[in-house]
Amino acid sequence: MTEEQIIDNFKNVTEQIALATSTAGRAVGSVKLCAVSKFHPVEDIYAALKSGQILFGENRVQEAYSKFSEIQNNGKSFDLHIIGSLQSNKVKKAVEIASCIQSVDREELLVEIEKQCAKLNKSIDVFFEIHTAEDSKSGYADKDLLFVSLENFENGLYPHIKPVGLMTMAPFTDEEKAIRLSFQKTRALKDEINEKFPELSVSQLSMGMSGDYKIAIQEGSTMVRIGTALFGERC
Ligand SMILES: *Cc1c(COP(=O)(O)O)cnc(C)c1O
Repeated sequence: MTEEQIIDNFKNVTEQIALATSTAGRAVGSVKLCAVSKFHPVEDIYAALKSGQILFGENRVQEAYSKFSEIQNNGKSFDLHIIGSLQSNKVKKAVEIASCIQSVDREELLVEIEKQCAKLNKSIDVFFEIHTAEDSKSGYADKDLLFVSLENFENGLYPHIKPVGLMTMAPFTDEEKAIRLSFQKTRALKDEINEKFPELSVSQLSMGMSGDYKIAIQEGSTMVRIGTALFGERC
C-alpha cells in the first residue's frame, strides 16, 4: 500500500470509530485506536505516524523490537503494545520496547514481567487476556486463575506492573451473536473484577478488530486493535 492509501485508511477508520461510538450513545473519543502493524514493513508505520497515529500493536516481540527500535533511533515517539501470546524468554525484550503487554494470560508471565521491569526500573501496563472464543487458545481460560493473579496485585507482589484492563479476541465467524457474546462476557467479567477488587483500576476493554470493531464498540470497548483495515492484507 502507498503512504497515501494508508493515511486515507487512517482517516476513514477514525471516522468510522467516531460514528460507531456516537451511534452507541457513547462519548466520542472514549475509544482508542491501536494500529496493528504486525507483518507490515516499517515504511507503513512511518506513514501511520505521519497521519498522527502514536499507538501501535505488534504480535511478535522480535519483529516489534527490530522495527520499533529503528523508529526510536530515528527520534520518533510512539506507544507500543504487545498483543500476541508471549513466551517468558521474550519478556525482557518486550518490556524494553513496549509500554504495555495486552496478552497476559498466566501468573508465570507476571512474575517474569515484574522481574524484568524491576531490573530496568520501569513500570509497565498490562491487560489480562480473556479466553472467550472456542477457536482460540490464548487467554486465561479459568476465572479463578485470573482472580489469583489479581489477589497478588492487591497484595503488592507486582510493584512495577499496573493492571489496566481486559483484552479478548472474539471467534472468527460471521455469526454476530457469537461475537457479541464474547465481548459481553469480557465486559461482565470486568464489572465483577471492579466489585471484587475495588483497589485495582481494571477499567479498560481492549476488544474489536477489523471485522468486528463496531460490535465491540456497542459492547463497551475502550480500545480497538485494527490491522487489515488500516494497512491492508498482511504480507
Ligand atoms: C492481528 C491482530 C489484530 C488485528 O486484526 P485485523 O483483523 O487485521 O484488524 C488484533 N488483535 C490481535 C491480538 C491480533 O493478533
